[in-house]
Parts: sequence; structure tokens; C-alpha cells
Amino acid sequence: DDRISKIASSIRVIPNFPKPGVMFQDITTLLLEPKLFRDTIDMFVERYKDKGVTVVAGIEARGFIFGPPIALDIGAKFVPMRKPKKLPGEVISEEYSLEYGTDKMEMHVGAVQPGDRVLVIDDLIATGGTLCAAIKLLERVEAEVVECACLIELPELKGRERLGDKPLFVLIEAA
Ligand code: 5GP
Repeated sequence: DDRISKIASSIRVIPNFPKPGVMFQDITTLLLEPKLFRDTIDMFVERYKDKGVTVVAGIEARGFIFGPPIALDIGAKFVPMRKPKKLPGEVISEEYSLEYGTDKMEMHVGAVQPGDRVLVIDDLIATGGTLCAAIKLLERVEAEVVECACLIELPELKGRERLGDKPLFVLIEAA
């Protein structure tokens, strides 16, 4: 699919952000190209439109950019998975480990119902810790996680293995 190489070329890599040694994949340059942004959304929509997905769960912050247009196109609900103390209603939360210390992910109680078929969206999978926390939260409310989808995978960090038997779909593998 020749859309993928164009999408990949539009993603900018910023060395040493947010700290020395990290090559940050910056998707904001993709958003400056409406045709390629559209192609990106379309590629996910083509994959998920007939899979019975009832909820697209987007992970803060960049899952909030790609999740909603996909949800609208496939006729699913959009549910934000947020950093702590952002959601105003009653939440359930899941703690997960980072390179240094821990973080927490929260979701509104009642937003996802038992039996919902959920697609989890983020921009990038590195170690997989973030997506794992999202899967745990969703399974605690008895939803079915159909698949996780990201624009970019950093395969060296083996995040895919951490997801176990949960399928992961990505458009681009980056070094
Ligand atoms: P993980 O939990 O898989 O180690 O890290 C993935 C999370 O960190 C995602 O929410 C993703 O947005 C963010 N992240 C880590 N590295 C990068 C990067 O190079 N570029 C972008 N855009 N996000 C990153």
C-alpha cells in the first residue's frame, strides 16, 4: 500500500526529546498534511468498519487525535482513557509502571459496558505498558478488546510480546 510510505515519511523524528538518547516520533507533522491524515484514518477504518466494534478507546493524548475520526467513520462510541484527575465523573483506574516510577490511567465508570467490543487506539507502542493498562481497565468492566492499533511500533522494545495474545495492528515499524 503506497499510502504507508508517504505517511511514514511525514512523521518527523526529533533526537533527544524528551530526554537524551530518545528518538521521538513526532506525528504532528503528519497532521499538517490533510491528505495523509485522511489516508491514515481511512486505513484504520477499512480494517475495522466490519468488525462489530462498538467502542473506540483513545489513550491520552495522541489517541485523542486519531481515535475520534475513526469512531465517527465506523459508527462507534469514543471513550477517552485519561491521565489521573482529568475526568470529572466517577472513574476506575489502573496503575502501571514506567521506566522510572509509575503512572495511572483512568476511565469513566459506565462509559464502556459489559460486552462492548473495543478497539484501543494510540499513536505509538514502545514497551507496551500503556496499552496493557488500557486492556486491563477495559477487561475489568467485562468489555472485549478486539484489537489494539497504533500508527507506529518500536519493535526493538518488544511491546507486542507484553500484550500477550491481544492482537496489535500497526501501520509503521520504526527503528
Ligand atoms: P509504552 O507504554 O508502550 O512504553 O509507551 C507508549 C506511550 O508513550 C504512548 O502513549 C505514546 O504516545 C508515548 N510515546 C513514547 N515514545 C514516543 C515517541 O517517540 N513518539 C510519540 N509520539 N509518542 C511516544
